[in-house]
Amino acid sequence: MLEVHQLASAYGRIEVLHGIDLHVARGEIVTIVGSNGAGKTTLLRALSGVQPMRAGRIVFEGRQIEKDAAHRRVQLGLAQVPEGRHVFAPLSVQDNLLLGGWTRPAADRRREIEGVYELFPALAERRTQHAGSLSGGQQQMLAIGRALMSQPRLLLLDEPSMGLAPVLVDQIFALLPRLKARGLTVLVVEQNAYAALAAADRGYVMETGRIVASGAASELMHDPSVREAYLGLAAEPAAPLAGAVA
Ligand code: ATP
Repeated sequence: MLEVHQLASAYGRIEVLHGIDLHVARGEIVTIVGSNGAGKTTLLRALSGVQPMRAGRIVFEGRQIEKDAAHRRVQLGLAQVPEGRHVFAPLSVQDNLLLGGWTRPAADRRREIEGVYELFPALAERRTQHAGSLSGGQQQMLAIGRALMSQPRLLLLDEPSMGLAPVLVDQIFALLPRLKARGLTVLVVEQNAYAALAAADRGYVMETGRIVASGAASELMHDPSVREAYLGLAAEPAAPLAGAVA
């Protein structure tokens, strides 16, 4: 569904992404984990078209899109949930959602908004409330709901767990399989590597603008260097030798 070839991006003269290659297959949940400043947000923003690229190609559903403007990429089926949610605080929950569906005909918007309220009943109860008065978890749901309103096929999620209490982090990650069941493909970047890898099918590890490891999420969770550097866990003890005497 998505193929990224040798993507490079810079802030002024300082290059922060140095030739990223990755792919996402339809129906997968893929995560990119890595520490603060690795370049995860820059990468997602380059994919959605709000961060300029210095080099590389992005192919989405067989179409080269790196020259398409951000709004065009939304129309093509790619939507981003930004880090820090960025809901429109003075607007109601309902109006935030309707804005997310601006590319869709009115009938689609009405249908889709009911789908979002079904997914997030807490938003349905608060539809007339100002978005700025919602809790952090509810704002994260609203930011995801707003992105879903454009009926994307690929959802780009940036740090959905940021600033949330552990119980809410669990709720947000429990949502990913439900989105997958609705036919969505998800690319999620996270500092909370454990929660992200536990929810994902595959993962990439990023370090200072480069992909340094990739594989099935379950394999990465058992990789000793990933466990130590990103999961805060000791490497697993080696299996005892067959026939060893205690
Ligand atoms: P975080 O989880 O903290 O958002 P990240 O992995 O998403 O980290 P980025 O935010 O993409 O990383 O940052 C990658 C690099 O680019 C860092 O060195 C950062 O300091 C730098 N950077 C990010 N935004 C800007 C900017 N607007 N101007 C200049 N440098 C920037």
